[in-house]
Amino acid sequence: MDHLQLITGYIAGSGGFNSAWLLMIIIALVSLGVQWRFRSKFKEYAEIGLMSGMSGAEVAERMLRDNGIYDVQVISVEGQLTDHYNPENRTVNLSQDVYYSRSVAAAAVAAHECGHAVQHAKSYSWLKFRSAMVPLVTTASTITQWTLMIGVMLMFFSGNATVLFIGVLALAVVTAFSFVTLPVEFDASRRALAWLDNNHSVMQTRQEHAEAKDALWWAAMTYVVAALSSLATLLYYVSILNSRNRD
Ligand SMILES: [Zn+2]
Repeated sequence: MDHLQLITGYIAGSGGFNSAWLLMIIIALVSLGVQWRFRSKFKEYAEIGLMSGMSGAEVAERMLRDNGIYDVQVISVEGQLTDHYNPENRTVNLSQDVYYSRSVAAAAVAAHECGHAVQHAKSYSWLKFRSAMVPLVTTASTITQWTLMIGVMLMFFSGNATVLFIGVLALAVVTAFSFVTLPVEFDASRRALAWLDNNHSVMQTRQEHAEAKDALWWAAMTYVVAALSSLATLLYYVSILNSRNRD
């Protein structure tokens, strides 16, 4: 029995992939709950106006300057929840809702994305590690779905598990990436909240700060459930591989 079998055996029980399947369903349901909570929290805080009256774009500009960053542009992009920092061209991309809005949610998101810009400027190790994984993850995620699908069929019909094994390896890379993302996300929020805490001209009340913290907490939770659901899917396919090995 190798390590992987030991781990899946422990989590899925001796019952094989039925329990792994159950775990996957439970985590999928928890994911839905967290997603719903995150969206409703953001909707709520998007309607609470910031006392300072600053827009998301203004908050972002201020946070970058305060951190001595002058080579990063703040731009607005299409879509909802499309906010991200792009290290390639050094831009903080804010969705229009965040860029123009003068709400607590907008300020929280803008500061969080600038948190990534600060990580980049300070060569934060988890961000560097995550960026280094991107080319491998891009390849892995393009082959994951079809190798798993064809792999399962091949294994059941011809007994050949090679393609499924490749699919499991690819999914393992994607899963590892979603876990490496976690410290990067938590750290960006931590930097954002620390800066907001020190800038009473941006966030004037404890209440606003607590709401920003709550919004960013639920945003982080969506990354946690995404990582867990990727892990559950991985365990499920590993248990299918194992069921073959036991025959
Ligand atoms: Zn982020």
